[in-house]
Amino acid sequence: MLDGRGRSIDYLRVSVTDRCNLRCVYCMPEDGVPSLRHGEILRYEEIARVVRVMAGLGIRHVRLTGGEPMARRGCLGLVRTLAETPGIESVSMTSNGLLLGERMDEAKRAGLRALNLSLDTLDAAAYARLTRGGSLSQALSALDRALALGLSVKLNAVPVRGFNDDGLEALASLAREKPVCVRFIELMPLGCARALRPVPEEEVLARLTDAFGPPEEDAAPHGHGPARYVRFPGFVGSVGFISPISCEFCARCNRVRLTAEGQLKLCLNHAGGPDLRALLRGSADDAALADAIRRAVAEKPARHAFDEELGDREARRMNEIGG
Ligand code: SAM
Ligand code: SF4
Repeated sequence: MLDGRGRSIDYLRVSVTDRCNLRCVYCMPEDGVPSLRHGEILRYEEIARVVRVMAGLGIRHVRLTGGEPMARRGCLGLVRTLAETPGIESVSMTSNGLLLGERMDEAKRAGLRALNLSLDTLDAAAYARLTRGGSLSQALSALDRALALGLSVKLNAVPVRGFNDDGLEALASLAREKPVCVRFIELMPLGCARALRPVPEEEVLARLTDAFGPPEEDAAPHGHGPARYVRFPGFVGSVGFISPISCEFCARCNRVRLTAEGQLKLCLNHAGGPDLRALLRGSADDAALADAIRRAVAEKPARHAFDEELGDREARRMNEIGG
């Protein structure tokens, strides 16, 4: 499906829940957020219907995110349904891994092929502080389990000054021995992350170059996203950078998002996007749903709006959008 600016949109991120078992400092406030009520979030059958209709429009890749997708009961059943949807070529998940680790075999059997695991540090105390209580050993066993099962694994790390910035080399060195991509994501100034200080990509790259030697650009395909990858000498895996603020990738954007409440979100930090839940629960048939989606995608904004202050409702926290 082409948007109004000629970009091919084939990737849908679905936030299956706003809830999470962790409270990462850049994502959620310490005491959590008022959860959406059960009836406010899309039922699995509703998500499956949206994906079926969007597959008919050209969506090929679906990623489940959240909140923590595994915090919603039945999530692996959704993985199976989506993996079996005609036209869908891949179903992946972004997860903190803590609830997924023990169920990784089941996830693979359901059709999960790729995992983005959030892992910001290899220091157990720093991990607990940044996630406000998470267990590093559980996250690491999820990583090992996923690799043992042959899933394609990328690690997501958000460098935050004063929380994990002294352990970035150790994190990157996971890609020395393991076939993983370690990706550094620039801190996005949404919600509670506005009070935190990012570590610029140039600084991360300079430090890794000091530690490991000059990297080479890694132009091999790494999935469907906008990251830039490099490979350090002797590494089996690669290191990636996702820097939506300082290095814009909007011109190559291939994605739209479905929030847990059923809003089709066309771009980060932009208001608008149709309320698909209202259509799903009204009398719209699949053709009307497809029409609403096609019209919305045609209006996808040219670029994100992180440099603009939006109203409270739009300054949404990451757990509601799904990253
Ligand atoms: N709970 C899952 C997890 O942590 O992987 C999925 C949802 S989480 C919102 C998705 C991704 O968004 C995570 O990799 C997380 O690091 C990232 N994220 C959350 N808040 C962010 C922020 N303010 N800036 C950049 N990335 C953020
Ligand atoms: Fe939960 Fe993921 Fe947000 Fe951390 S980043 S609080 S694990 S949703």
